[in-house]
Amino acid sequence: MKKIFILSAIALISVWTGLDAPAGQQPPQPPPLTVQNIKGHIYLVKGGSGANGGFFIGAKGVVVIDAKMTAEAAKQTIAEIRKITPLPITHLLITHSDLDHVNGLGGFPPGLKILAHAQTKKDMDEAFQKDEALKPLLAYLPNQTFTDDFDLKGLGEEIRLLYFGPAHTSGDIVVFFAAEKVAFIGDLAFIGRDPLIHKQKGGTSFGLVKALKDLLALDAETYIAGHNDPLTKNDIQGLMTSVEEKQAKVRDMIKAGRSLDEIKAAFGIAAAAGAPAGRSWPSLVEIIYQELTEKK
Ligand SMILES: [Zn+2]
Repeated sequence: MKKIFILSAIALISVWTGLDAPAGQQPPQPPPLTVQNIKGHIYLVKGGSGANGGFFIGAKGVVVIDAKMTAEAAKQTIAEIRKITPLPITHLLITHSDLDHVNGLGGFPPGLKILAHAQTKKDMDEAFQKDEALKPLLAYLPNQTFTDDFDLKGLGEEIRLLYFGPAHTSGDIVVFFAAEKVAFIGDLAFIGRDPLIHKQKGGTSFGLVKALKDLLALDAETYIAGHNDPLTKNDIQGLMTSVEEKQAKVRDMIKAGRSLDEIKAAFGIAAAAGAPAGRSWPSLVEIIYQELTEKK
């Protein structure tokens, strides 16, 4: 009986927190979806099922950033947009392919311009193909992709889509509003817990440091991440330093001949850190260890 309870609790948590939230760190129900003005015509979408997203009200239409995790949360987002503007939603920008940023696509009207990095489209395609329940989302695959920086023009103000290379995944983009100095950064930053690197999607910790460096070089004041309140340059700087320190410490311990288990123990990471069955969230230390030992 106890076991059944634990399994269903894990299932419930897994369903809504998605790839980006280790079990046990979030309440079993997402907080209600809310919208907050960040600056000018830029808004943050928080709560509901899935990661933080946002939208920008342009001259002729609304540009939405990320698609939440369920059609219901997407519809709640649209309802909030309707309270602010009657303009149609014209564009969807996808920061990366994780399910808590894309599985709500079906709640949006068809026919939108959907933009993402080419690798993100490939990862979405694979994920949607192999799950019968997600196949309807194939109709929402990005219809405009790019592999480098891309400037979106003609929407009332220039929106820069920046690519800093593989980091959290290999298709992360930053949506940068230069005039307001606001950057939507997907999951390039996690504050208050281990940064997450999806190695299976080509993410790397060394790439993450590079991306954080590039984020610091941007003339930005506000960074909107998928799982935190709005961040500042100081937050990004602190995160970058902590990842670099971990990399240096792991490198030194490898040189000193320590095993992965010894290194994890030195960082206080339990040998069998608990992820639900069938899923795994290796610690950042483990990812760094793999990267450093693979290169040799
Ligand atoms: Zn993510």
